[in-house]
Amino acid sequence: MKLTSRNLDQRLDTLYDAVIAGGGAGGLSAAIYLARYGLKCLVIEKGKGRSMWMQELRNYVGLDPHTPGRDLLKQGTTAALGWGADHLRAFVDKVTDQGDYLEVQVNVGKTHPTAVTFKAKYLIAATGIIDILPELENMQNVYDYAGYTLHVCMICDGFDMWDQKAILIAAREPQIEAAFVLNWFTPYITVLTDGKFPVSEAMKTRLQAHGYPLIETPIARFLGENHQLQGVEFTDGTRIEVTTGLVNMGSIYHNHYLKAIPELTWDGENLVTDEFCQTTHPRIFALGDLKKGVNQVAIAVADGCLAATKIWRTIRRSQPPRIWVE
Ligand code: FAD
Ligand code: FAD
Repeated sequence: MKLTSRNLDQRLDTLYDAVIAGGGAGGLSAAIYLARYGLKCLVIEKGKGRSMWMQELRNYVGLDPHTPGRDLLKQGTTAALGWGADHLRAFVDKVTDQGDYLEVQVNVGKTHPTAVTFKAKYLIAATGIIDILPELENMQNVYDYAGYTLHVCMICDGFDMWDQKAILIAAREPQIEAAFVLNWFTPYITVLTDGKFPVSEAMKTRLQAHGYPLIETPIARFLGENHQLQGVEFTDGTRIEVTTGLVNMGSIYHNHYLKAIPELTWDGENLVTDEFCQTTHPRIFALGDLKKGVNQVAIAVADGCLAATKIWRTIRRSQPPRIWVE
């Protein structure tokens, strides 16, 4: 059932088998499997997540390579609701361990949010990450290209940069390392710091040895039309011609609501899980981009299947068998 602020009080006494924080690729996959196992689950999705920014899902077998993330979300949400999952547009703020169950504190509504609490035997953390983008005065200029020809994921879109003139935008020196991987796809790489950090002599020497120019002047704007990058203008008025780029400035991890759970194991900001996406807290699973591993839709979708199946097995094994009674 689609929950809203008007009808959600019907579910406040429900002990869900699983609450899924995040209704992106992985969360919706988990919801579809859980619902088809006959388990009670609730997806809580804040909106505008990473898969929504994905303009074309090019490497998912069986889908048209022009499929936008929005379509995946729409179809996935409709399917999950259709099989019997609950879905609420809201923000997961805090998870508290109550021993036999978890309390999931949620803020509903944007302007005047109301805090409500749901109860669940298991939590599936599927809230993902979001890419940090260059901050220009006119952010619309960034959004016109980011996700189209200014990519954020080399695994997803390296192929589409093949032998093109490309920029690599970094926010810290270690992120420049991506240039030495990106050169698998194209060697015509110009590295930009957007004037945000100094570059060591050692890195400058390495870039020179590869023939990759380094520009440390801040970016004024991206040039082009119809989402097709054609160049970059810098604050000193100079310009370069490029047709593509990779933003490698790090990510924001949507994991704040789990930070007070001491049993969890972290690798940086990623959750460490076993092969069924179970974290080191037995009631908490983690999927997709939030979990340590490869950040891809195919992985998140498979993770959703694994986590849901492990939860079903555990619940099923704790119950007596159903008896044929006439
Ligand atoms: P997401 O799909 O990001 O889902 C997480 C959800 O959680 C989001 O919808 C978010 O709104 C929600 N959320 C976050 N915090 C909260 C909170 N506190 N409360 C409630 N909800 C919350 N992958 C590919 O495989 N192929 C591609 O071609 C490809 N191209 C990409 C292009 C772009 C521009 C981007 C940005 C990504 C691309 N990716 C691609 C990567 C892909 O989007 C991710 O790997 C995938 O979406 C991960 O799934 P997920 O379920 O872990 O996270
Ligand atoms: P496959 O998709 O089976 O691919 C293996 C391929 O290798 C086959 O095409 C085969 O012809 C080929 N092959 C085998 N030996 C050789 C050889 N020596 N030389 C050359 N080629 C060879 N899964 C779901 O997730 N959801 C469902 O709803 C679902 N429903 C199913 C319904 C049915 C009737 C069946 C049979 C399966 C269903 N499955 C479902 C399971 C799903 O089909 C498999 O899990 C999935 O196809 C496994 O992918 P795979 O690549 O490992 O194997």
